[in-house]
Amino acid sequence: MDPKTVRPETIAAQALGWIDEHTRAITPPIHVSSTYLRDADNQYRSGRVYARADNPAFDQAEAVICALEHGHAAALFASGMAAATAVFQALAPGDHVLAPQVMYWSLRNWLMTFATQWGLDVELIDMTDPAAVRAAIRPGKTKLVWIETPANPLWTVTDIEATVSIAHAAGAMLAVDSTVATPVLTQPLQLGADIVMHAATKYLNGHSDLIAGALVTREDSDLWQRIRKVRAQIGGTLGSFESWLLLRGMRTLHLRVAAASRSAQRVAEHFEHHALVAAVLYPGLHAAPGHAIAARQMHGGFGGMLSIRARGGEAAAIAVAAHTELWKRATSLGGTESLIEHRASVEGAGTPAPADLLRLSVGIEDADDLIRDLERALHAAHR
Ligand SMILES: *Cc1c(COP(=O)(O)O)cnc(C)c1O
Repeated sequence: MDPKTVRPETIAAQALGWIDEHTRAITPPIHVSSTYLRDADNQYRSGRVYARADNPAFDQAEAVICALEHGHAAALFASGMAAATAVFQALAPGDHVLAPQVMYWSLRNWLMTFATQWGLDVELIDMTDPAAVRAAIRPGKTKLVWIETPANPLWTVTDIEATVSIAHAAGAMLAVDSTVATPVLTQPLQLGADIVMHAATKYLNGHSDLIAGALVTREDSDLWQRIRKVRAQIGGTLGSFESWLLLRGMRTLHLRVAAASRSAQRVAEHFEHHALVAAVLYPGLHAAPGHAIAARQMHGGFGGMLSIRARGGEAAAIAVAAHTELWKRATSLGGTESLIEHRASVEGAGTPAPADLLRLSVGIEDADDLIRDLERALHAAHR
């Protein structure tokens, strides 16, 4: 299959049309070997030596993600965090890095503790404001600008193209955590980003049954080669079975993301002016601060993630979550089942999440069922 001649839905559904040369199987086998035979003359012509560095189980899933993101190469990791931290570990102590104040909590926490202790100079800024980026960037000193859009858990939107041009003008690379946008809705590399990161745990796999991460690069670069070295040396590699499950999950990526986005839009509009809801945070709402930018860089929907702020503060929010039945009280996102979570309890001190905020991951259930369940829980919480 030539990925340039078919739509991304076709690439994902057929996993790039892969056929096993020996058996004619249309789904790949699970390669579990940890090591590979060396040629008699001491060479490794297969290119494979040891499964911590590389594994044929990665090949097809990496090729699909790479094609969907229009990249040069992709690499799977043992988790989204392993993928994201590999980018920062490929930098050098003393390098200056810009990251958003509003971002995936565990990564922000790692940046401000481990990465900072290790010597990275990390500065958190308002990434939704290009003037703030321009003011904080230090030409020649800033090596990486990290963005996330839409960003956990407020779903703020960052203008990828505008931020890329500020980063590149200062000689910095730009990496995007595009977990929530997915390659279905946004292709950051086509907007000039250098690296795209996915928590493949979420939408790419889509079934809440594995932990995985992925990076895609726009072109070969020193940074990319160092990232590959970080994976091989530190060993944050994905298991063979997980790689196979991920490839299977991605076959339905476009159906799942379209359904979740459609339902999230309906849920957001239903509760936008609700008497028991103080605010709905969703980039698909016209009133959302980032709506115009999101409409430009997201195609086919605004994603499956939104947050609501319950009237009545923290206690009311926790009571709403206690009364849902279909919405499961659990962390994570991007699965077929809808999830609800009180984020401030998870994130603790320093969180940008207001105490009354509930994060919603919309799955692929019937939207009316989801709306009815949340309606019922809102009323039950206020009785
Ligand atoms: C889940 C998530 C991560 C981390 O991925 P893991 O697979 O849990 O390590 C990073 N960024 C975002 C936006 C996420 O939702």
